[in-house]
Amino acid sequence: MSYDTMAYSAGSATSPLAPTRIPRRDPTPHDVQIEILFCGICHSDVHSVRNEWSSFMPTNYPIVPGHEIVGRVTRVGSAVTRYKPGDLAAVGCLVDADGTCPSCRDGFEQFCPNLTLTFNSPDKHLGGVTRGGYSDSIVVDERFVLRVPSNLDPAAAAPLLCAGITTYSPLRHWGVAKGKKVGVVGLGGLGHMGVKFARAFGAHVVVFTTSPGKTEDALRLGADEVVVSRNADEMQKHAGSLDFILDTASAEHDVNAYLNLLRRDGNLTLVGAPAKPLGVSAFSLIMGRRSLSGSNIGGIAETQEMLDFCGEHGITAEVEVIPIQKVNEAYERLLRSDVKYRFSIDMASLKSLP
Ligand code: NAP
Ligand code: ZN
Repeated sequence: MSYDTMAYSAGSATSPLAPTRIPRRDPTPHDVQIEILFCGICHSDVHSVRNEWSSFMPTNYPIVPGHEIVGRVTRVGSAVTRYKPGDLAAVGCLVDADGTCPSCRDGFEQFCPNLTLTFNSPDKHLGGVTRGGYSDSIVVDERFVLRVPSNLDPAAAAPLLCAGITTYSPLRHWGVAKGKKVGVVGLGGLGHMGVKFARAFGAHVVVFTTSPGKTEDALRLGADEVVVSRNADEMQKHAGSLDFILDTASAEHDVNAYLNLLRRDGNLTLVGAPAKPLGVSAFSLIMGRRSLSGSNIGGIAETQEMLDFCGEHGITAEVEVIPIQKVNEAYERLLRSDVKYRFSIDMASLKSLP
């Protein structure tokens, strides 16, 4: 059994997002139905809508993107224990996993071979593919629903569900703390959260940006130093000095220029996912026993830990709240690095559609 809800979808890699109606399942005993209040716009939404990751994760059309969801619980299934109607709740990039594989058992559902992403994954319940948060409502198993601390603004908390956890998780994993010098490459949605978390963990933070106009903001957000990465002299000043670099750049760039800034045994973790492979010089790694790795969002328990940390420290994203009618324009602005620093869609605008 299902019901219809309003959404925005794209019909092909070259079509704009446009209003549509989509089905959602009626809550089963373990499901939570959520009225979506805000949904952040992640650059992954743009990569997916435009099928830029066709070799790894081909897009099924029509696609309804969105995996930074905050909303109000409207109904719960008979077996749900953790949520009740009226609660503020959130959903990130994952809506299901097998729960039995080694990754799930270790709390790393994001690496489960049978995970279900919030959009563009096979939908076990309704057939077809899952549809994301650019929508009026969503129905999710309670194991994948998160609790939002009540002191956080829901519009600014939505981006925590992807940009937040994707930066929090590797910074924690690589032991970023007081006494460490940490670089953040790219001051967009992920990057600005990386700066806030690295600062909150006590590190010395250096932002690397291609946009000189973001310098003041970077300092205000918590950076100790800002480097315009196109300036070779400025880059050279940091050679061999960073313990850890979080690379959030969404497009092609020379990763060697950043690897060379690492100290001995330093690590650069890619969270940015440019469509084309990056060229890595062996010498960037050999010299100084440096390492290059990647990281994918975070598990459910760690996502809740991150939200609770944000509640305790009053951390949210810097958002530009937009009506959904402006989503296509927002995508163009993301591609120009013109975002300060996350778009958050006010889903009430979906209700005003004819
Ligand atoms: P975003 O808001 O568009 O920010 C990306 C930033 O990268 C831009 O603001 C810009 O910062 C920088 N940048 C853009 N083009 C660049 C280039 N050619 N060279 C160097 N820097 C460039 O995007 P986002 O939402 O933060 O996402 C960033 C990337 O992470 C995307 O590829 C996204 O798909 C990926 N992602 C991965 C995960 C994961 O789990 N691993 C999760 C979410 C997103 P400056 O203006 O400061 O240079
Ligand atoms: Zn995302």
